[in-house]
Amino acid sequence: MKPAPFDYTPAASTAEAVAALAQHGDDAKILAGGQSLMPMLNLRLARPAMLVDINGATELDYLREAGGRVHVGALRRQAAAARWAVTRLPLMAEALRHVGHTAIRNRGTVVGSVAHADPASELPALLLCLDGEVVARGPQGERTVAAGALYRAPLTTSLRADELVTEARFSLPRPEAGWGFAEVARRHGDFALVGAAALLWQDAAGRAAGVRLAFFGVGGTPVRGAAAEAALTGQPVTEVGVRAAARAAAAALSPEGDLHASARYRQDVAAVLAERTLMDAVRRCRRAA
Ligand SMILES: Cc1cc2nc3c(=O)[nH]c(=O)nc-3n(C[C@H](O)[C@H](O)[C@H](O)COP(=O)(O)OP(=O)(O)OC[C@H]3O[C@@H](n4cnc5c(N)ncnc54)[C@H](O)[C@@H]3O)c2cc1C
Repeated sequence: MKPAPFDYTPAASTAEAVAALAQHGDDAKILAGGQSLMPMLNLRLARPAMLVDINGATELDYLREAGGRVHVGALRRQAAAARWAVTRLPLMAEALRHVGHTAIRNRGTVVGSVAHADPASELPALLLCLDGEVVARGPQGERTVAAGALYRAPLTTSLRADELVTEARFSLPRPEAGWGFAEVARRHGDFALVGAAALLWQDAAGRAAGVRLAFFGVGGTPVRGAAAEAALTGQPVTEVGVRAAARAAAAALSPEGDLHASARYRQDVAAVLAERTLMDAVRRCRRAA
């Protein structure tokens, strides 16, 4: 398939990109890695009149740690972020390993995935699990949007059409936190049918001092496993408790069935993955001194 005709604006800076978005608003789309946008154009699922290409805004190609968070600029490719994450944030490295294939990760950006808001994507759920946020810049200036307020529906966020996401910020877990990540897909590299990411850390007495759980592929947006977080936090960590908490979190989901998996299958798998990722987090965590 070929895309519908569109105009093209290369932006050499963040300011140029924001100005182009302000001029074209709803008619424009940002082009970052193009790994989701180009297929959508080719299938004519998106028909923007203007593409604003941010690949020349090289000031957006950064990844830095500050204030307990990692700040990932809008041009930092997924593969580069994964290389950094292996030692600094293994949960992110593992999530990125499941994003498509090497060629896609070499071009696709972390922020592009977060902004694209595919409910079966790994990175939006990771942003939710890591209490993340995005920085959005528009004609009125800059604002931050927490992950929990970002995702509205499949491919739909609370960002305005004239806003550029300049960076995504993921909280770095405390050093004693353990993590887990798992997904079920038909083949490695495919979008997940269901997935989960978890963090857990313990106090000196072995109680869960903090728990984070996020699901993807189970609804229109990534979903926090709030029931499991509430059930486990402050409690002694036991396998039985984790299993019950995982089931409670999955029971609160309302996934839909489709060609690939029934709603029931998704809910059952979500319970299994929640238990598995939480137990992996328990095994990997250290008790606070
Ligand atoms: C074969 C294949 C398999 C894939 N498998 C997976 C997978 O398993 N898991 C997964 O998560 N992804 C998968 N992807 C998608 C891939 O990860 C994309 O790279 C990513 O989702 C989008 O990043 P991008 O930089 O390519 O964004 P683009 O495709 O350039 O843009 C995607 C959307 O986000 C918007 N956007 C991009 N950057 C910004 C910004 N800075 N501010 C505001 N809006 C912005 C664009 O306007 C567009 O609407 C796959 C892609 C392919 C082709």
